[in-house]
Amino acid sequence: MNCPKCGELIKDTKQNVCEFCGQVLVDTEDKPLLKGWQTFIDGVKGGFDKFRTSLEDQSTKNKEFLEENKDKVNKFFKTIKDDWDTQIQKWSKDIEQRNLETKEQST
Ligand SMILES: [Zn+2]
Repeated sequence: MNCPKCGELIKDTKQNVCEFCGQVLVDTEDKPLLKGWQTFIDGVKGGFDKFRTSLEDQSTKNKEFLEENKDKVNKFFKTIKDDWDTQIQKWSKDIEQRNLETKEQST
């Protein structure tokens, strides 16, 4: 199956969380931990997008500056996005692991 959010191929279909974007892939109604995780992820993703938008707004006001520093700005965005995605992936794996442990304890 593919992740409904980022479209990446999910090889392990038993996985509850997309390892690429952190999207929760299962019905979260009876899984409060995953539900909380999804809310958190939506929050931080909004934070990043908001941050980027505000910087882009600033940049249109300083078009000359942006043109002069295009490569630097693009590189900055790529770096911060990569770090962001890496962190989300790390958290996704952690929460996935915790979810499995919780399941094992309850059975
Ligand atoms: Zn995804």
